[in-house]
Amino acid sequence: MRLLWPKARVRRVTELTPEWLAARGLSGLVVDLDNTLVPYGVAPPAKGELAEWNRSLAEAGIPVFIVSNAKPGRTRAWARSLGLEGWGLAGKPFPWSLRRAVRRMGLAPREVAVAGDQIFTDVLGANLIGAYSVLVEPIEPKKGLVHTRWVRALERRILERIPGPQNGGAQRSESGE
Ligand SMILES: [Mg+2]
Repeated sequence: MRLLWPKARVRRVTELTPEWLAARGLSGLVVDLDNTLVPYGVAPPAKGELAEWNRSLAEAGIPVFIVSNAKPGRTRAWARSLGLEGWGLAGKPFPWSLRRAVRRMGLAPREVAVAGDQIFTDVLGANLIGAYSVLVEPIEPKKGLVHTRWVRALERRILERIPGPQNGGAQRSESGE
């Protein structure tokens, strides 16, 4: 059960600022694509808040990898557009792709945040490799495949037991505090 619990929950991926990461001893970020970074089906380029956030991480020298279960072409297009490394068909929650990303950063898993919107792929994968798991609220909760809907029903049952980011700040969303 512990493997399904995120270390932190945030409303949006853009809350994972250089300061947020530094405060938790984290030096790298692996991020999911669909419904975490961008809505399903949306093509690059990034605009506004997302583009600014991406720039601030780059300026702080924080390596960011996109590791997605989506099609490789879509993932690569987004990674290239953001100036990041990234790959699709990652097979999360199996740990190989996440481990590869962390290795490429030259960091230990505990120094890397792995963020995504799904407990059974993103959070489980992160916890399996010993990274700092961050559950991000899905950008569009109602969208997704049929199988995602029943997975989400299971997720809701788990989330009822974890303090969430209902009333705001990332500070309050830590599950372990
Ligand atoms: Mg996702």
